[in-house]
Parts: sequence; C-alpha cells; structure tokens
Amino acid sequence: MAYKSDIEIARAASKKPIQEIGAKLGISSDDLLPYGHDKAKVSQKFINSVQGNSDGKLILVTAINPTPAGEGKTTTTVGLGDGLNRIGKKAAVCIREASLGPNFGMKGGAAGGGYAQIVPMEEMNLHFTGDFHAITSAHSLLSAMIDNHIYWGNELEIDTRRVVWRRVVDMNDRALRQITASLGGVANGFPREAGFDITVASEVMAILCLSKDLTDLQKRLGDMIVAYRRDRTPVFARDIKADGAMTVLLKDAMQPNLVQTLENNPAFVHGGPFANIAHGCNSVIATTTALKLADYVVTEAGFGADLGAEKFLNIKCRKAGLSPSCVVVVATVRAMKMNGGVAKADLGAENVDAVKNGCANLGRHIENVKSFGVPVVVAINHFVTDTDAEVQAVKDYVASQGSEAVLSRHWELGSEGSADLAAKVVETIEKGEAKFAPIYPDEMSLADKINSIATKIYRADAAQMDQKILSQLKDWEDQGYGNLPVCMAKTQYSFTTDPTRRGAPEGFDIPVREVRLSAGAGFVVAICGEIMTMPGLPRVPSAESIRLNADGDVEGLF
Ligand code: ADP
Ligand code: MG
Repeated sequence: MAYKSDIEIARAASKKPIQEIGAKLGISSDDLLPYGHDKAKVSQKFINSVQGNSDGKLILVTAINPTPAGEGKTTTTVGLGDGLNRIGKKAAVCIREASLGPNFGMKGGAAGGGYAQIVPMEEMNLHFTGDFHAITSAHSLLSAMIDNHIYWGNELEIDTRRVVWRRVVDMNDRALRQITASLGGVANGFPREAGFDITVASEVMAILCLSKDLTDLQKRLGDMIVAYRRDRTPVFARDIKADGAMTVLLKDAMQPNLVQTLENNPAFVHGGPFANIAHGCNSVIATTTALKLADYVVTEAGFGADLGAEKFLNIKCRKAGLSPSCVVVVATVRAMKMNGGVAKADLGAENVDAVKNGCANLGRHIENVKSFGVPVVVAINHFVTDTDAEVQAVKDYVASQGSEAVLSRHWELGSEGSADLAAKVVETIEKGEAKFAPIYPDEMSLADKINSIATKIYRADAAQMDQKILSQLKDWEDQGYGNLPVCMAKTQYSFTTDPTRRGAPEGFDIPVREVRLSAGAGFVVAICGEIMTMPGLPRVPSAESIRLNADGDVEGLF
C-alpha cells in the first residue's frame, strides 16, 4: 500500500475559516487578528479578559532519546489532541513555531506528520505570522545599538573584547559563526571579533517564550547582559536603552498564533527556543492562554525527556506556575531497536530481542518523569512496519515498570488511531495522582543544581566542574543570580555527553565545559560537550530542489 506524503495530506485538508476554530474556544472574531483566512493571532485584550477562568489539564508529550529512526513527538502531540477531541473532550494543542533556516538544509517540517498534522503546514514552516522575523529584528536592533554606542565614544566603557551579544539570522550559514565586524576604516567603528547564531538561539526568543506579558518582556529584555567592562562588571541591554524599542518590535509577536489540525481542532503555534542553550518549549503565554480556554492542553518539549521534559518541568513549569497532570513518553519500536543495537539499515526486519534490549532507555525516562511526581503514559507511535510481537514486547516492558503503553496509530488514521491513547490519558488524569514538584529547590547552589540533574536524571556519577567554572557560578550567586534554574546544553542522543552511547549507560561523568548566564531569560546554561548555535547546510541542501510548481504551490520542502 502506498502512503501519501505529509505535504500531499496537508494540501488535501479541508480547513475551516480561522473564526470557526476560534469559536470552538470561545474566542470571538473581534478578538482574533487574522493573518489570511487560516491563521490568526489572539488579542492581548482577550487574553487579559480570560485570566479569571479556571485552568484545564496540562499534558506534556516527550520521548526517549532521539534516534535517526524517528520518534514523532509533534505527530503524537497533534494526534493526541485530535484523539481527545474525538472522545468528546475540549482539547487544544500547543507547539513551537518552526525555524526557517533548517528547512533549506534537510527535508522535513515541524507540523507533525501523516494524518496528525497542523495546517497550513507550508506557511507554518516558512514565514508564518512573522514572529521570528520580529525576533531577528529586535535582536539586531540591540546589536546595532551596542556598536553604535561604542562608535560614539563608549560612555559605558564596554570592553570591545568582551561583547557577549552576538548577531542572529534565521538561516543555516556556517560562514557567519565567527566574523570580524566594523572593518573598513574610521567611519565604520572599532574592529572587533563577533559572530552570528541562528535566530532560535537568541536570548530574545527564550525571553519571548517565558514572559507573562509585555511588561515582563520589557523587564527581561532590559536584564540581558550584552558585554562586560575591563573590571568585569556587566553592561545590560537596559544600559544601552534598547529595551523599549525592542518591546515595540515584539509587541505583535507576543500574541499567540491560532491555527488548526487536519481535523479542524484548535492549535496554538507560538515561539520556538532552541532546546540546548535554551529550554525548548512553546511560549508560556500560549500555554497559559490555552489552559484558560480548553479542558485539556497537549504540549511538546524538544529532544528526549532527559533534556526536553527536564527543562519543561524544572524551568518552564516552575517559572510559569504550571502543573502538568500527565506526561506522555513517546517511543517507537524502531527507536527501541536502535537503542538495542540494530543499525538503521536493518530496522525493517523483526527483532524482538533488540526491542527488549533497547527498552532500558525508555525505562529510565519513565522513572525520571515519575520523579517529578507526574504520572506517565507511554505512547507507542505506530509505524506500519512494526510487528505485533515487537509492540507486545514494549507493552510488557512498560507494564513491568508500573506504567501502561498504548499503541497509537494517529499517523496512519488520525484521531481514529489515537482515541485509545486519549482515553488512557484522561483515565490517568482522572485518578488525580499528579503531585508535580521540580527536582531541585530554587535555593540550592547552582553547582548542586547542575549536579542534581547529572546524577538524578542522566544517572552520571557526577558533573565535572573545574575551579574556573565553580568560581564563575559563585560570582553569579554573589550577584544575586543564585536562585535561577539551570539549562543543560548536552547532546540529545544519549544520557551521556557521547552521542553514540545509546540505551541506559552507567559509570560516566558529565563534564561541564562552560557556563553562561542568560540573565533576561532567567537561567544559567551549563554547556556539556560541543553545542552548535549556528548550523550549516549539508553538501546537497534541500534548497536545491525547492521551487514553485505551475499552480504556485511549494515543491521540495517535505
Ligand atoms: P519530533 O517531534 O519527535 O521531532 P515529528 O513528529 O516531527 O518528530 O516526526 C518526524 C518525522 O517522522 C515526520 O516527518 C513524520 O511524518 C514522521 N513520522 C512520525 N510518526 C510516524 C509514523 N508513525 N510513521 C511514519 N512516519 C512517522
Ligand atoms: Mg517536534
């Protein structure tokens, strides 16, 4: 049987006007700011007006460590949202917006897949409602104002060797990773080393996603550290007087975007911070708004549960006062096989033993999530090549861990395939067992926080931090940043810092190479291993085959 491609399915969708989708959540046309017929921002005025509503139940979708076999978190998030609606629940989905640049490197989108997708998917993966362009602009304004300040006499005494504010563009462009700025003579300023990150790595992105409202946004923008003086004291964005104008550029981007699933159910798509040097979840404002409007809100965190769920729970939920009722851990038979040692080329053949071997990875994630006090349901995202014996092996393993795994066929069948998963999630939530708490308190020292995550979540023997790092953390504590949570930047492929070590490894340390302070976003980043904040393009970028066809449709993206 031939299956349709994601784009073929998305293009055949019978979309409803966005006003009808808004109406399902009680948002009137006046409170929707439409971008065309099928996308709209939800007005700040409306958001303010629903603050007195009670909150729905929050469900996080996370996964085992990613493998090249694919896990399908977004697909499952969308499928579960549709499944909940199918069984008669008022449910909404909250996911991240897509970064533009990576689309032109490898084929693949961020809107889900098969019959569990968000539409319009081409637009969601390209310019969408312009939020990321606004973020790039706000970030660039600050970059320009810093060099302008230096040019006009540098009253703040910025040490031009210690400007930490880099530039951003939403494109995979490795040529810009390290650059020399202000070349060309006296009229162009003082030459200095600089560099670019991709837009989603901007601290402005993380701030937009963690801010409660525009006032909070402006305060956080002002709190960002942009440079240091010779005496190592920090210079803030507020000192450059950029925070007000940046907020102006971001005021529309702060409003969440409403779109729909293939089954015409509401989906908020808003924000998209990196999941390594930032926290990797959609915006707080979209999640909290959705909770005011729907009885069930399904959201996703990037990477595997060791990074994505950990940050969702320790950073986003802690800071936004959110309390999830259930966590869905997505696993696939194929990924279990890869964790069990099978090569990608051999995934087609049935191999129950490899599935069993790989389950240790899943088991550790289940245990980790439960340590936050939230019940777990495992979703086996069904691939049509999976055999019954392989699926049963996962179910048996999960049962042995005291949880339940449900086979979900949303990719193939839409909500018809995910209704069982939805019912299990509702049943789990209705038991009322969730008692969410972050795994470390605000008052713990920064070094101990890093160590807690390394030992309790990754199961390392310890986090290795040399004297330089420890004294840096101590300095930040003395400056009043000690209460911040930590944001771990580590490979997503393994519990260790070695991407090739799959499964559930033991007997390793987590070396912390560098620590950074994101004072506006409100976390300390611990960098463990090589982390790329400006991706490159592959030898044959997908851009080479992207074009418009005779009907004006986009070809070659997916
Ligand atoms: P994640 O959010 O974990 O990165 P996605 O949900 O975006 O993963 O899925 C990645 C890709 O895998 C998509 O192209 C999607 O169509 C595909 N995919 C997901 N689930 C399935 C499935 N059950 N069968 C076949 N392909 C799938
Ligand atoms: Mg995803």
